[in-house]
Amino acid sequence: MFNKFKTMAANRHELDMLGINPFNIQVEKIISPTEGVINGQHTILAGTNNYLGLTFDPECIAAASIALENEGTGTTGSRMANGSYSGHRKLETEIAEFYGKRDSIVFSTGYLANLGMLSTLAGPDDMVLLDGDCHASIYDGCKLGGAKTMRFRHNDIDNLAKRMERLGDRAAKTLIVVEGLYSMLGDVALLKEIVEVKREYGGYLLVDEAHSLGILGEKGCGLSEELDVMDDIDFIVGTFSKSLGGAGGFCVSNHEELDLIRYSSRPYVFTASPSPATIATTRQALKKLSAGTHLRKRLHENAARLHAGLKELGYTLGAPPSPVIAVVLDSKLEALHFWNDLLELGIYVNLMMPPATPNGAFLVRCSVSSAHTTEQIDMICAAFSKLRVIA
Ligand code: PMP
Repeated sequence: MFNKFKTMAANRHELDMLGINPFNIQVEKIISPTEGVINGQHTILAGTNNYLGLTFDPECIAAASIALENEGTGTTGSRMANGSYSGHRKLETEIAEFYGKRDSIVFSTGYLANLGMLSTLAGPDDMVLLDGDCHASIYDGCKLGGAKTMRFRHNDIDNLAKRMERLGDRAAKTLIVVEGLYSMLGDVALLKEIVEVKREYGGYLLVDEAHSLGILGEKGCGLSEELDVMDDIDFIVGTFSKSLGGAGGFCVSNHEELDLIRYSSRPYVFTASPSPATIATTRQALKKLSAGTHLRKRLHENAARLHAGLKELGYTLGAPPSPVIAVVLDSKLEALHFWNDLLELGIYVNLMMPPATPNGAFLVRCSVSSAHTTEQIDMICAAFSKLRVIA
């Protein structure tokens, strides 16, 4: 049984020999959304997905504290078995209102939202057409439901259209799945064109806006709002764990069958519902998000500044400016050392390697926050600059 772990053990040993372990980072103290202590050193956090810096927001903390005090630490079961607390349903109504859609379902994590939706929407008789760069949770959802899956090349509209054409009559009941802003390279889906394909061949469209909620669009709904195609999207999935600084996931839709998904979605039925504090902080964060655009504006200013700084230094970047800025490196060893050198300079970013990355790329991935100060962005650039000189 354990033979299959041998490759993993060898990989881990290799990292131990190098004295680098990017996958077991201990944040000894969390100081703010953008600062912590790692290896005893004050560190700027630039790999957290804390896009709007809301994890320390006083109103979100207060809402969570009140819920903790009044409703306890946990729900101790699923909504199907133990019932819903008032906050669960309120949050669902508020998300649906935020998106201007009929209804929503809240799941316990973003991962479970994809798992729960895909496994229930698409069974063994259904076809799912996936963008090749889709997140693991989307693939896992298809596996759990036993759907037939086919990939199309990332953002390749001709390839998508060709596959839909080949499906013939089956295209009209095919589910196309893409993301809004892709989490690894920071590029966005060609959603207008994808919608055109759906209009031509029929089918359904699910968009995972995990990294675009709160980031794109006038109201912050995501890419589908930004490109004004929200009416053409059947299902929008997202997470509360990034821009909203909480935990949990959701799906919002105009299809009245959405409510029925609850009753047959195993990742909804067979897991504990989000705790009262999690729900309360998410509701408050959503209120904050709906109230204005200043956090989003600040986020994009910071992203543009970091992107321009790294570009000027001559780094190869994954995509045009967005809050996800990936530096593409040549090899695993280069990426490991680069990531470690940044950490030693007091900058924490994500090291991303295959199989999690597109095209087997080795990435040092930064995620920008609206809570980063201009000085922090400049300090991140300065660290990258130092490493450029050394290289
Ligand atoms: N979808 C995408 C595109 C993601 O990047 C992630 C998390 N990285 C998820 C879903 C899962 O979200 P969560 O971590 O909140 O479970």
